[in-house]
Formats: sequence, C-alpha cells, structure tokens
Amino acid sequence: MAKKQSRSTGSVTGPRSAELLKISREYEAGCMSQQAAVVLDHGRGAKLWDVDGREFIDWTSGVLVTNVGHCHPKLVAAIQKQASLLLNVYDFPTPPRLEVARRLVGLMPKHLNRCFLLTTGSEATEAAMRLSKRYTGRNGIMSFWGGFHGRTMGATSMGGKASGKKGFGTMLPGVYFSPYAYCYRCPFGESYPKCKMHCLQWLDKVMATETAGDVGGLIVEPYQGASGFIFPPDGWLTGVQEWCRANDVLFILDEVQASFGRTGKMFALEHEKLKPNMLCLGKGIGSGVTTAALMSEERIFSCLSPGEMSSTHGGNPLCSAGTLAVLDIFEEEHLVANAVAIGRYMLGRFRKMQQTCRYLGDVRGKGLVMGLEFVKDKKTKEPGPGLTVEVINRAAAQGLLVGRVGYYGSVIRVAPPLVISRDEAERSCDIMEKVLKGL
Ligand code: PLP
Repeated sequence: MAKKQSRSTGSVTGPRSAELLKISREYEAGCMSQQAAVVLDHGRGAKLWDVDGREFIDWTSGVLVTNVGHCHPKLVAAIQKQASLLLNVYDFPTPPRLEVARRLVGLMPKHLNRCFLLTTGSEATEAAMRLSKRYTGRNGIMSFWGGFHGRTMGATSMGGKASGKKGFGTMLPGVYFSPYAYCYRCPFGESYPKCKMHCLQWLDKVMATETAGDVGGLIVEPYQGASGFIFPPDGWLTGVQEWCRANDVLFILDEVQASFGRTGKMFALEHEKLKPNMLCLGKGIGSGVTTAALMSEERIFSCLSPGEMSSTHGGNPLCSAGTLAVLDIFEEEHLVANAVAIGRYMLGRFRKMQQTCRYLGDVRGKGLVMGLEFVKDKKTKEPGPGLTVEVINRAAAQGLLVGRVGYYGSVIRVAPPLVISRDEAERSCDIMEKVLKGL
C-alpha cells in the first residue's frame, strides 16, 4: 500500500500494467468486457490506484457494486473478524445470515417478508424465474427489449438483446418481450409525453399475439443498465405493475444494480412506491462481498419444499458479515442523501457539457447513476461507439475511470461509489469536460 502515488496524466498504460497485461493476453480467456488498459492494485473510497501507483477517480464502482466505497474500513474489519471465525457452512443457519435476513426484511415493503440469500444477481433472477413457474404453474415470463438479468442460461433467456444470446444455442422457451421506454430512441418514433406511454400498450399486444396464454411472471429493471442506463418516464413502472395485477402476473423487479442508494433512494421501488411480488437484489448489497438476495412473500416461497432451492455459498457467514457492515454504513453515513446531492450536481454539469459537445446526444440519470449517450450527429442520432472508446482512454489518461454500455456501446456509464465527495465530483467532472472539449 505504501506505493509512491502520482495523479495519472499521460498515456493510459503504465510500465507495470503493460507487463501484467501480457499475462492477461497469454493466459486469460479474453471474453470479458474491455476497460481502460490498466491493472488495478488497490482502492479507497471513490479512488483507485493501478499497479504503477497512478491514482484514478472511479466512476464505475466495479459495475455498480462498491456503493459504500472501495475497501470501506468498517466493511474490511467485519470481513477480517468473520474470516477468523467461520467462512462457510452449507445451509446451516449462522448468526450473520439470520441477521441479514432480518434486517433486509425490515427494509422492505411489509408484504416482502421472506429473504433467500444467494451470491450473484444471476442467481437471484434465475431463482425468481423458477419461483414464478412453480408458484403460478405457468411457464411463461414477460420481459423487455433491452433487458439484462444476468448471464446464466435462464437469465440470458430473459435478456432482451440479441448480442447476449447469439451463438449460445436455443434459449429457454416461454419468454416474451415487450418494448421498454427508451425515449431517446423511441421504437415507435414518438416523443414523451405526447405518446402517453404508448409502449405500455404493447404488453397487451404481446400477450394476445405471442404467448400461449401461459405468462406467470414479468421481470423488469427499474432502469435498464446494460442497455445504456435507460430511465423510463415517471409512472411507467407503475403502469407495468398495474398491468401485472390486471393480468394475474407476478411482478418481479430486478434491482440487482439499482438498489442500495444508487438511484437516490435505498431501493428504486421507493420512487413510485412499487409493490413487486419479488425483488432481486445484488451488487451494492455487499459492496464487494458477493451477496445477492431474492425477497418475496411467504405465500410465494411456500411453494418450495426444503432442499428444492439452495446455493453452496448463498448466505455464507463471511459475505453476510460484510453485508451487515454495509447496512450499518448506510445508516451511519447518509449515503443515500449524498447520492442525491452529488448526483444532482453531476447531472447539472453533464447537461451543460451537452450544450457545447456536439457528440453528447443524451444525458440521463437518477441519483448517482447516469448515462451519457454519444452520437456521431445529434440530428440523425447515429450511435458513436468509437467516441466512447476515445472517452474511456482519454479520461483514464487524465485520472478518471469510466466504462461503457448500451445497445451500441455508445453510452458512458457514470456510477461512482456513493461516498464520492463534492471535491472529487468536481475534479472528475472537470476531467470529463476537458475530454469532451478535445473530441
Ligand atoms: N440483473 C441486473 C439488472 C444486472 O445489472 C446484472 C448484472 O449486471 C445482473 C442481474 C446479474 O448480476 P451478476 O453479474 O451478479 O450475476
């Protein structure tokens, strides 16, 4: 840790990073997403340092994971303490696991009174899908264009992007797709609010034309992350929930990346007081320890007999102890309020940048999760994936780490740890402004 530290200014890759990246090229599968070419060594709060000792402000939080900041001392201490006590016991209850379940249920709307602890978001969405089938006795799942729910086969099947499925064989039958509210690129060429959320009516059309009358559950993200940080207009999710109720379909909200303060509320469902039948949690819940959870109702979980669903590492004492620390940190450090305040500041800066940068087509976000969509031309909205690669590299060279997502890879994701200070937010926005001026 006692490395010489300097702020990154020149090229993206330092000498030690370059050396280690050779190992990656020689031994790794090479199937992971492309980030700036640096090898990271350690982190603290909203900052990361690479193996060459260069400092970066982090706008990635892993991929919306480290909400309480990198290596929060309280989280680190909790893991260290638990590591000397007990690491894993399959399915035996332990005090940390039970306490996580109790506290998570306490944070939920009243009806979500049962918690099933898992390790990854994909496990949580898979479990939700299976539970929907078992409970309703219906095979079908409604999902959305552009939706992302993980990379296991069931979760992939519920994904609404062909690129995630191409060449991976036959997807699970019985998943149907309806358009999400991607207002910047409305699939119907309409504009909000004049459209009166026309896309919602497609749920009925899909139900009537594509399904076998067998839809038991609907899964949806509060905002679409992987497809480009796409935020539906206020009221859209309520409309989806109402459709579920009217059609006797379980409403499954996938908050794997949207919860734990990210959108400026502890849980994204709070914005519209949603009452999903199932809530999938992950990422920020552990802020670095691998915890995920499926929250649901006792009546729904009761369709499973003991032993029918489980996970080798789910609710393990190490990760549970970490998650308890994360919950404490949220209570003690007002991270949700910080996400609101800093998020407002950053969104304001981006909106100003949008006025002067001819490539920044759309700026959108809530709390501390924002998408900057780059286009070659603001009139035609032709996506600019090459521009986002430039932004990633130029920002990294100046000490700012960002990632990209989207249908076309043309959206820069802005999702710093929720502990980011006003000074760090200002400095990092200054870097982005400079990068955009140079495009
Ligand atoms: N659901 C959503 C909305 C996600 O964003 C992700 C991951 O990015 C997942 C599920 C899958 O989570 P994991 O990668 O932990 O399996």
